[in-house]
Amino acid sequence: MAREETACCIVGGGPAGMMLGLLLARAGVRVQVLEKHGDFLRDFRGDTVHASTLTLLDELGLGESFWAIPHRLLAQALLPLSGPRPVTVDLDLLPGPHKHIAMVPQWDLLGLLARAAGQEPTFTLRMATEVTGLLREGDAVTGVRYRTQDGQCGELHATLTVACDGRTSTVRAASGLRHRDFGVPLDVWWFRLPRHPGDPEGLAARAGRGGALVLIDRGEYFQVGYLIRKGSDARMRAEGIDAFRTRLAALLPRMPDRAAAVRSWDEVKLLNVRLDRMQRWFTPGLLCIGDAAHAMSPIGGVGINLAIQDAVATARLLAAPLLAGRVGGRDLARVQLRRWLPTVVTQSLQWVMHQTLVKHGLTGAADAAERDTPPKPALLLQRFRRLRAALAHVIAIGVLPEHAPAFARRPPTPPSRGPEAVGPRATPRP
Ligand SMILES: Cc1cc2nc3c(=O)[nH]c(=O)nc-3n(C[C@H](O)[C@H](O)[C@H](O)COP(=O)(O)OP(=O)(O)OC[C@H]3O[C@@H](n4cnc5c(N)ncnc54)[C@H](O)[C@@H]3O)c2cc1C
Repeated sequence: MAREETACCIVGGGPAGMMLGLLLARAGVRVQVLEKHGDFLRDFRGDTVHASTLTLLDELGLGESFWAIPHRLLAQALLPLSGPRPVTVDLDLLPGPHKHIAMVPQWDLLGLLARAAGQEPTFTLRMATEVTGLLREGDAVTGVRYRTQDGQCGELHATLTVACDGRTSTVRAASGLRHRDFGVPLDVWWFRLPRHPGDPEGLAARAGRGGALVLIDRGEYFQVGYLIRKGSDARMRAEGIDAFRTRLAALLPRMPDRAAAVRSWDEVKLLNVRLDRMQRWFTPGLLCIGDAAHAMSPIGGVGINLAIQDAVATARLLAAPLLAGRVGGRDLARVQLRRWLPTVVTQSLQWVMHQTLVKHGLTGAADAAERDTPPKPALLLQRFRRLRAALAHVIAIGVLPEHAPAFARRPPTPPSRGPEAVGPRATPRP
């Protein structure tokens, strides 16, 4: 059997892996992305495309193709920062052309990146190929072992392996690199509800006696994320589906009938939420980025943006060493150094939001007086415009946003802005 080898082996075709594959291929680096699933059509993908990612897509010449995908625009971010009601932040305070967050099913975004990368001669995407372990020579990682869905096993040797395989990363586990778990008080039930004309558009959040949930508008249906206390899944399921429907109906007073659409527990998937961070993101021959390096909670909807920004920094800092055929420890350390601060700030914000949800949203324990009083952060935000602008920046653009390196840029497409976004419920773009 011929020895299979490449310059860069990327494990995982999520936002981090696909963006990194595209950028490195545009630099002329031989790159292979190995994705264990046969398609991108999984349900538990987040849908948000942040302002900084929209700018990045423009820089990559993909803006026009992106806006051709059916989407919604959010003009406000909803954040559980204090009290039972989420704090809203207007995104029209953002600098630059994109003053909104776009919502598209993630499989459409990944498909767009895959098609663009497929035009580069040095890019290969291997779907239905699961990485099962690492190859080593001495201390250095020299590639991966994989198994395809039809049962074939193989080895791919690489100058550099990049783990982009998400929050349950096989590569991270195999590497022996350590991480710190910050503990998360919640898990998510993930299911669909029918959506009817006149229902909320875009993104909506609900909190009350029945708990807390997020409704993601996907046209004909809502993707629902229902927050539960960590570890309470088995107990709550044992109470029966009718008890669940009653709780759900209490959270949806304007559409209580919709809860009946959940016919059985089989339709309700449990997602184990994690918040963790590796102390060191690399070892000779191996780098971890995205959720593999720092698992993000869904709260605040910021993990996809962070993963994409990691990928851009990685491509910018490592394309030249990869083309030269030598990637040293210092090169890898520069990636972690660059992405450390944004990761710590964003995870800290998520941690604060978790505490708030536990105090209010998850228990629905707020009394009437509390419900009627605007939360303190909301009052502060109302008062100080700069504070609002700073928070909008952190959420929709991120700390230390990355821009496309010169080698990856392509001619600008015609103006790629959506229509004016009109509020937290947003509008579909024609
Ligand atoms: C329920 C839920 C909802 C969320 N909603 C949002 C949201 O709305 N907005 C937001 O910004 N963030 C959201 N997040 C967080 C966000 O999903 C992650 O931060 C983001 O997807 C990380 O991107 P990634 O590319 O690093 O990893 P992932 O998106 O997890 O991608 C990893 C990829 O690797 C593949 N893979 C895994 N193991 C292997 C293997 N051994 N071999 C080959 N391939 C493998 C997987 O199939 C997957 O395609 C949500 C998280 C959860 C749990």
